Amino acid sequence: MPENIPESLQKRIEERLRYYEDLGIRLFYRDRARDSAPVADFVPAVPSAPPPVVPEESSLTRHRTDVALPATPAHPVPVQPVIAPSGPSLFEAVDRVQNDTLLKIREDMGDCTRCKLHKGRNKIVFGDGSAKAQLVFVGEGPGADEDAQGLPFVGRAGKLLTQMIEAMGLQRKDTYICNVVKCRPPENRTPEPDEVATCSPYLLRQIDVINPKVVVCLGAVAAKTLLETNRGITQFRGQWLEWRGRKLMATYHPAYLLRNPNAKGEVWKDLQKVMTELGLQAPKKKSS
Ligand code: URA
Repeated sequence: MPENIPESLQKRIEERLRYYEDLGIRLFYRDRARDSAPVADFVPAVPSAPPPVVPEESSLTRHRTDVALPATPAHPVPVQPVIAPSGPSLFEAVDRVQNDTLLKIREDMGDCTRCKLHKGRNKIVFGDGSAKAQLVFVGEGPGADEDAQGLPFVGRAGKLLTQMIEAMGLQRKDTYICNVVKCRPPENRTPEPDEVATCSPYLLRQIDVINPKVVVCLGAVAAKTLLETNRGITQFRGQWLEWRGRKLMATYHPAYLLRNPNAKGEVWKDLQKVMTELGLQAPKKKSS
């Protein structure tokens, strides 16, 4: 690392690099045009490919003790729990709330000061969308735009997510969008384990209340949190997993796609699987 980079920035870069390593990406270059570039359209790279066949229910993999990597290894490889390796699952410890609602969860959260993230936040970013959504997207945590507006995914990555949703034949308001942590981590760093552990019970309650058919984890932090694994996302991205009786799929985070547009095709394939599961069709292109 060059010496003229301030220590705080070095730390952030190291954290980011570790995050990308988790995604299996080890080669980096700087795209000088990136900062000024508008959000590129979410143009699916493989629009004409027929939607892949979704595996039968019986071939779904389970999370935690018996999660396997479908299709590849002959013998299931257990996913290692990462957050509470020796104790009960983070989520097993969450009491089920009778007649829970999103409003109750928000009220329970209150003006939360349970973890250190509250110190730097402007607004709690609870979640947005339909309480009856069949599809829930889970991101990592609010960025600057989200912190300012109190809404998830409203910055550049959010615009891309909205395009992705529309490419699936849905409106953003038909889905529910939330994050693992509800307050912006300083300088957009990765949320720390204690922050994730404090905040994720609320996420769990949100998903339970909405009871969607499909949960899509956007990026490694969401996937690792919900699956309680420290496996790299590349090992299970695009594969159906069973999670608390629902179908879960992890795909790349839209912010990653902004930096790596070549990965959009992979994400589109993942989303096509979700579309098949939900009986969705891509909207017809308007003829000019
Ligand atoms: N990235 C996220 O993970 N969540 C947001 O809400 C915005 C950007």
